[in-house]
Amino acid sequence: MLVNMKDMLAKAAREGYGVGNFDVFNTELLKGVMEAAEEAAAPVILAYSPPFEKYSPLAYFAPAMKAWAEDTDLPVVLHYDHGTSLEGCMHAVACGCNSIMIDASSKPFEENVATVKAVVDYCHPLGIPVEAELGHVGDEGEYTLEGYGYTDPAQAAEFVRRTGIDFLAVAIGNQHGVYTAEPKINYEVLQAVREAVDVPLVLHGASGIPAEDIRRCCREGITKINIHTDMLLEAIATLKGDLAAGEKSYHTMSAHHTAAVKKVALEKMRLFGSDGKGR
Ligand SMILES: [Zn+2]
Repeated sequence: MLVNMKDMLAKAAREGYGVGNFDVFNTELLKGVMEAAEEAAAPVILAYSPPFEKYSPLAYFAPAMKAWAEDTDLPVVLHYDHGTSLEGCMHAVACGCNSIMIDASSKPFEENVATVKAVVDYCHPLGIPVEAELGHVGDEGEYTLEGYGYTDPAQAAEFVRRTGIDFLAVAIGNQHGVYTAEPKINYEVLQAVREAVDVPLVLHGASGIPAEDIRRCCREGITKINIHTDMLLEAIATLKGDLAAGEKSYHTMSAHHTAAVKKVALEKMRLFGSDGKGR
């Protein structure tokens, strides 16, 4: 069933676990994640981000996400990840997303505030919560903390107050894509931000972060954890294995692809402690 992410994450914060946000844009990803949620009895966030448009337009894919969400008794959120404009966010709402992220984190502070505030002003009257990012989670590429844009705790308090956002994505040493070196989470920054704001915190780029760090992040105030890359890597390894083994059936490979996604999503739900929390 579709639920409001504010309720979903408030429960997670109270009970001290994280909810998995899984970015999906095809049936193998979507089905794999939902089968994992069913097996884990976990709440789940199905997310879609703008770069997926070229593979699977949201206008056509959102109805599929919605059908899966409405066909289960588990709590599900349809989230628009890394929206880049008010227009894009409005389109996502029209397509059925009931949670929106607007990411203006690469812009100067005042521009970030103004961009996010405009989306909040549009979404809140519709009952749709908004996530935004302060500091800058590194983009895909070489992992380095040189010049890394950590979230500034004092600025975070001002950002939340002035924009009215419901969830804050933090930059604490995390980066999108594949880590080219061991990720180093800065817990001092996490704790300071946790103390400075009272909204749930979101960890982007969580694929590849060691399990012990993820557990600690959940203990120290992260309640939404974004996963995409780890599902893709497992799917690629599985499909390569199929080809190496001489598999010739596309249908079989599609089924293996789904199973690979399910395996990763299930591991993550258990790691985040969200298993058993959906029923
Ligand atoms: Zn992200």
